[in-house]
Formats: sequence, C-alpha cells, structure tokens
Amino acid sequence: EVTISGVSRVFSDGTGLQPIDLHIQRGEFVSILGPSGCGKSTLLRCLAGLETPDTGTISLGERTVSAPGQKPVPANRRRIGMVFQDLALWPHLSLTENVAFPLRVSGAPKKTILPRVEGALARVGMSDFAQKMPHQLSGGQQQRVAIARAVVAEPELLLMDEPFSALDAALRTQLRMELVELTTRLGLTTLYVTHDQEEAMAVSQRIVVMRSGVLQQFDTPETLYQNPATEFVAEFVGRFN
Ligand code: ATP
Ligand code: MG
Repeated sequence: EVTISGVSRVFSDGTGLQPIDLHIQRGEFVSILGPSGCGKSTLLRCLAGLETPDTGTISLGERTVSAPGQKPVPANRRRIGMVFQDLALWPHLSLTENVAFPLRVSGAPKKTILPRVEGALARVGMSDFAQKMPHQLSGGQQQRVAIARAVVAEPELLLMDEPFSALDAALRTQLRMELVELTTRLGLTTLYVTHDQEEAMAVSQRIVVMRSGVLQQFDTPETLYQNPATEFVAEFVGRFN
C-alpha cells in the first residue's frame, strides 16, 4: 500500500510535478500515463528516493519515507525494486552477481543468497544464463534479468520506468505479459510508467493520467474510457478505442 499526499517537485523552469495525492492498494498494478515531460519519471524518482519532494508525504505500508521536516529514508532502505530504461546491468558482473547485488548490499546471510538468486532467475526464465555476462544477452534477456534483480529482495513496491521501450513491439508485448504474470504471482504492488495508451489500458488495474505535471484522473481503464474527467483524458485515452 502506497500513500502519496500533496507531493510536489517543481523545477526552476516551472515544470515537474504539481501537488499530487494517490492511494495505491497492496498488490495493485498501476500504470502512469502521459505525454513526454508530464512528470512521470519525477513522480517515480520521488517514490524511489532519488529526488526529494518540495512538499508532501510518502508512506510505504506503515512507514513514512518522506515528510516535511523529516530526514527522508534513503533509496536503498525503502524496500523498492526498480527497473528503469537507463538503469542497465553492471557490465563487469555475471548475471548471478548482478541479481545477487541487492542482497549483498542489504547484508542478507551469505548462505541464503545463491538460492534466492537462482529462484529469481528461474522466475524470469533465465536460469540457463546464470554464469553469462550481460553483453552476451539480447536486450530483452537483459531486461528479464533486470526484473529478477528488482524482485530478488522481495520489495514492497516495484517501480518500472518504460522498461521495455527500447525493444521491438512483439517482444515488448510478451515481456509486459510476463511482468504482469510475475507481479500477480508475487502479489507485488507495481507502478509502471509508459507513454503508450494501448499498453496501459491492456495491463493495468488502474491508470494515473498526467499532463504538464498535473494529475488528470486516477481510475480503472473502463472508467477512463467511459467517464473521462477532462477533455485531455478523453482525447488521450480514446484515441486507441
Ligand atoms: P518522458 O516521457 O519524456 O520520460 P516524463 O513524464 O518522465 O517524460 P519527467 O522526466 O518527469 O517527464 O520531467 C518532467 C519535467 O521536469 C520536464 O519538463 C523536465 O525537463 C523537468 N525535469 C525533470 N528532471 C529535472 C531536473 N533534475 N532538473 C530540472 N528539470 C527537470
Ligand atoms: Mg520519463
């Protein structure tokens, strides 16, 4: 469960994220949809602890990780898994060591690491590649391993920022189906950023639609389509129906 109350982050040129309220249920798959520059990544970066909000409060489950006048909980203590388009695997580490990394930095007991890594690689169908190096994999295989690395420490929240945008359309469709299947099986709360309306409508339980840093609507795909709150939502979501 994620609670975002009045969170904003406005940059010196006036763009960024205007105050936003969101309450996301445990296990929910939520997409964040909107045109380039509308603040999708800024919102995710605030949740991840990579950006400090100007205002507002962020809670993950019972824990408040960011609030006015409080020292924010650092990124590596938030129990968040991340797959960003530009957050690649470490090229000098084998796939096993890449996936083991979050467990090693969190000080997991040594004996438990390898079985957990093997489990995570198996979940994304990459067991046979465990000893390979990242450059020996295709782009899609690398993103599968990045997902394994993001879920290995059993995060409370999975953040994905256009994780498959560099891949071709067929592979993108397949990987996002695998992702939904995996997050459902693990009961993971997931925030998935995309600017692809069709993709968001296909996979999400609810969708956040943003425009110029402002939340337009947060609803199920059906409601967005049948009952758009603004002209912008109608136009943006309706285009594919
Ligand atoms: P895209 O779909 O292109 O990834 P986005 O919705 O993720 O776009 P953001 O990256 O959140 O957009 O950026 C929102 C706005 O904030 C943009 O106008 C961007 O230029 C600005 N911005 C983002 N990060 C910074 C920063 N660190 N410093 C200054 N401005 C920033
Ligand atoms: Mg972005």
